[in-house]
Amino acid sequence: MAVTEASCDLTYCKMRGFASVLTAFIKERKMGLNDFIQRLVSSPHICQHAEVNNFMKIDEHPNEDIEQAILRDGQLYLTSRTSLAEETQIKPSDFDYLKIIGKGSFGKVLLARHKETTNYYAVKVLQKKIIMKKKEQRHIMAERSVLMKNIKHPFLVGLHYSFQTTDKLYFVLDYVNGGELFYHLQRERIFLEPRARFYAAEIASALGYLHALHIVYRDLKPENILLDSSGHIVLTDFGLCKEGLEDNSTTSTFCGTPEYLAPEVLQKQAYDRTVDWWCLGSVLYEMLYGLPPFYSRNTAEMYHNILHKAPVLKPNVSNSGRELLEGLLQKDRTKRLGSKDDFLELQHHSFFSPINWDDLMARKITPPFIPSVSGPTDLRHFDTEFTHLPVSGSLLNSDSLAVTNSVREAAGAFPGFSYGPPVDHLM
Ligand code: AMP
Repeated sequence: MAVTEASCDLTYCKMRGFASVLTAFIKERKMGLNDFIQRLVSSPHICQHAEVNNFMKIDEHPNEDIEQAILRDGQLYLTSRTSLAEETQIKPSDFDYLKIIGKGSFGKVLLARHKETTNYYAVKVLQKKIIMKKKEQRHIMAERSVLMKNIKHPFLVGLHYSFQTTDKLYFVLDYVNGGELFYHLQRERIFLEPRARFYAAEIASALGYLHALHIVYRDLKPENILLDSSGHIVLTDFGLCKEGLEDNSTTSTFCGTPEYLAPEVLQKQAYDRTVDWWCLGSVLYEMLYGLPPFYSRNTAEMYHNILHKAPVLKPNVSNSGRELLEGLLQKDRTKRLGSKDDFLELQHHSFFSPINWDDLMARKITPPFIPSVSGPTDLRHFDTEFTHLPVSGSLLNSDSLAVTNSVREAAGAFPGFSYGPPVDHLM
């Protein structure tokens, strides 16, 4: 059929008319819903009704970009999750920045106190320019999205807010002040088996939880493993997490720290969640033997060892410990411990038989070591290399930066980064 210009115009006009009727209809329904919910929440009697309560459980699908309701000053706002931080208007000047407590490849981590609530947080500040130069936007956005996936696990760091200025990204995280596992390991050289088992079990349960959400952590190493003030594990740094890996799917981006790189990563082959079990093997090895499994001062030799040498398992570690290390440090990922039933396989390994996993998850197992900290401002477990550095004033006034082209480009490079607390906190 020949389509004439006139018939085209007609169809276009009709379409436009239809679209505007539809938009008006949706707007009306939205207003109607808004009114309806407004009436619901303003009546405590109705609110207590079980069905209404169920209907109002608006935070049940926190992973989705669904519309949310916020009640403020007696007004109900429907808003999308990504705009929550703008709604809550969190900004750098809401915090006092007390000390630098760490440095990563894109910026600093600072101890900060929220001025209004006086709560302490670890604020991770990343320079957009550096991230963009290294073409790492995807990793950083992955870190944010992993952190805000309402990930709640006793051994994973929690995200309270994320927000951005023209030149910086901010993550407001739980402040964890027992120090890096690495810091304690360096001081003590090795950990005895029960202590190493306790840490390995808490780490494994956090990794198992992430895997169940189709997230691969990828960058497990002692610097990213912190202890809280009671001695439990907290994993931080989700910068290299790979999201969306289904059970048998693989990926092949080259990431990670040389000492702990799995053979498949080193060879740029496809890898999957079993890469995390290799890394756990490396960390457990280092806890028990005092050095990473394939360590050499010569990087080329270390790479060669990772690819071709069996780990040296001296008999000062128990049989079950050595067997577990052998299983985790299996070069062929399809034969590695955890390749079939993931975390479950580890839970059933004899090395972990003294662990009651329910108690572990409930944080009921008394930690083998309690870091001595007198309070939030006690920074004795942080490296003085960082804590002695001056806190830069630019954290507060970065928005007054001269707007050059690169700043302009950076400013819009992280759409939807900002994040505020779930609605139940606000209500
Ligand atoms: P990252 O950039 O996440 O690797 O962090 C760099 C360093 O900052 C870590 O190795 C820790 O020493 C410290 N750090 C990171 N996150 C936290 C946190 N939530 N609480 C306390 N210290 C942290």
